[in-house]
Amino acid sequence: MRTVQERIFNFSAGPSVLPLPVLERAREELLNFERCGMSVMEMSHRSREFDTIIARTETGLRKNMGISEDYAVLFLQGGASLQFAMAPMNLYVKGKPIDVIHTGVWTGRAIEEMAKVSEYRLAGSGESVKFRRLPQPEEIKLNPNASYVYIASNNTIFGTQWRSFPDTLGVPLVSDMSSDILSRRIDVSRFGLVFAGAQKNIGPSGVTVVVIRKDLADRGSKNLPVMLQYRTHMEHGSRYNTPPTFGIYMAALVMEWMEREGGVSAIEARNEEKARTLYDWIDQSGFYYGPVERQDRSRMNVVFRIKGDKEDLENKFVREAEQAGLSGLKGHRSVGGLRASIYNAQTLEAVNALIQFMKEFERKNG
Ligand code: PMP
Repeated sequence: MRTVQERIFNFSAGPSVLPLPVLERAREELLNFERCGMSVMEMSHRSREFDTIIARTETGLRKNMGISEDYAVLFLQGGASLQFAMAPMNLYVKGKPIDVIHTGVWTGRAIEEMAKVSEYRLAGSGESVKFRRLPQPEEIKLNPNASYVYIASNNTIFGTQWRSFPDTLGVPLVSDMSSDILSRRIDVSRFGLVFAGAQKNIGPSGVTVVVIRKDLADRGSKNLPVMLQYRTHMEHGSRYNTPPTFGIYMAALVMEWMEREGGVSAIEARNEEKARTLYDWIDQSGFYYGPVERQDRSRMNVVFRIKGDKEDLENKFVREAEQAGLSGLKGHRSVGGLRASIYNAQTLEAVNALIQFMKEFERKNG
């Protein structure tokens, strides 16, 4: 077994690195949580202890994201992928097509689900430029009568990220924030619904966080399956059925870690520094390059390649990086290349270790 000192630098896109103090705290509390004589995994989701835990998670999320009482915070299952279906099932209004801005694989998946239960329009798409940039404002045509506008704030696979969000002129904006939630300050009041699988910036996989304006949670038909109505989970405080209790507990620890680190603005500054350090280094390199247009580059998922798109060399890079204690650097199977995910819990130390490795690899293979 590896000791803490032997932990590797983990650049996985998700599930991904968690803050070490969080893992240590979870280990300390594992067998006997706050002297209740059992683990969080073993306690009823209706116990007093768990009431406190889920309240801690919700309070922490509300504080870190600045979520007002006009919004419900829900802890669901089914991953972000279930939200691709739940959002249109609950929020689509007949005769008012959803406006989608298509920016990669994950909006593509959302569109497939939307098409089954609603009408939609492509209000913008990056497909013709292979998703190497987001649609420019003048390429986006929004319909003021849409049920909602759908985007993904960060595109985990292509490595693009919305810097500022489209002005939807009062139409609810819905965003998949799986890969950049809590990474920067956002104005939640601009959104009708935000969702994120936990496994990047919130905690372990198995929990999906949904932040939804309360009036929208009530929009869905009561004929939908009860588990697929936002209303059900809002009315039952995410405990209509058994929620993923251990994941919710881990998320509480992550929220409290964030607050100790100085909150989302401090985390955002750190994320900026990590991303700048890595992109600046890639940009001055004659060996590597970043395929994404600069203004749209993600601060969470840094996509890069070896010049000439040399796949064999990229595979070698991934193998040798792994041996050097840097894991998870292979690009997504659908696009190839290389990718370093540098979520909130990633350290500048890890980024610098990656740069050192990249230099060494270039020296030997350039
Ligand atoms: N959306 C985005 C932006 C993602 O990065 C991912 C997973 N990497 C998903 C959706 C799918 O999430 P899940 O596996 O939780 O369904």
